[in-house]
Amino acid sequence: MDTIEKGWFSEIHEDLLPGQAFSMRVKKVLHEEKSRYQDIQIVETTDYGRALILDGIIQCTLRDEFSYQEMISFLPLCAHPNPEKVLIVGGGDGGVAREAVKHPAVKEVHQVEIDDRVVELSKKYLPEMACGFDHPKLHLTIGDGFEYMKNHKNEFDVIITDSSDPIGPAVALFEESYYGLLKTALRPGGIVCSQGNNYWCGLDYCKSLLENCKKHFPTAAYAFTTIPSYPCGSIGFAIGCLDPERKLDEPLHVFTKAEVDKLNLRYYTSETHRASFVLPRFVEKALYES
Ligand code: SAM
Repeated sequence: MDTIEKGWFSEIHEDLLPGQAFSMRVKKVLHEEKSRYQDIQIVETTDYGRALILDGIIQCTLRDEFSYQEMISFLPLCAHPNPEKVLIVGGGDGGVAREAVKHPAVKEVHQVEIDDRVVELSKKYLPEMACGFDHPKLHLTIGDGFEYMKNHKNEFDVIITDSSDPIGPAVALFEESYYGLLKTALRPGGIVCSQGNNYWCGLDYCKSLLENCKKHFPTAAYAFTTIPSYPCGSIGFAIGCLDPERKLDEPLHVFTKAEVDKLNLRYYTSETHRASFVLPRFVEKALYES
């Protein structure tokens, strides 16, 4: 864990972030350990608040996590007519659970996270996100999401894959066979939404992820959100739906501004939902026309 030098943490990863680095000034290292699955660091930064870092890669910071957690949750939930039963794969910080339980139609949220240490440390150091684990709608299982999916068929309306990047335990969650398992775990008309890199430094990757999704889902699209602590300031989502008629960019649940405020949503609105599917021309061409 030699990623902190002269008081700065730097995210350096030649595959994910070739030739560049993102740094945050660190006030204090709160915790460091090697779990069964990964290196875990929790640091207090001067400008991004507390941050969770796995294998040297920033997972979330208190300053901007809401952008990612709200969008990865509410895009699929609001594109589904009645998302009663939801599954989260990964999401050990609890932020996606915190968001998913808010949706008025959601009755049950199941979550499968591989690393109990991420959950325990998030409860201790990141209660703003880990509060998601305390909600009565939430049922947490510790285990591998890929294996879990093999044993669940025709069960969920929405499956959100909030995984770490495709290294270490998360590799399988980006493969085509995973999309096949997701499909059988869904009820008719179900929707999946997965963390999907960013088009500035991983356009080919975004394309292959969307292709994997398209092989199993008649409706598939790519959306993105802005978030300063992720590579190149943005991250995308590969979204697939079993209903060939569904328009993923048109929310079926439209919240008024008063409802958005009541749900304590800071990034997601029906307008940011629609806008997140509008891609720059070079991305549109690469993802949909080649
Ligand atoms: N928002 C973050 C991002 O985009 O980088 C992801 C946050 S969340 C902390 C990622 C979680 O995925 C981690 O806690 C990790 O342990 C979990 N994870 C990785 N591989 C997994 C697998 N195969 N099954 C279940 N959880 C997994």
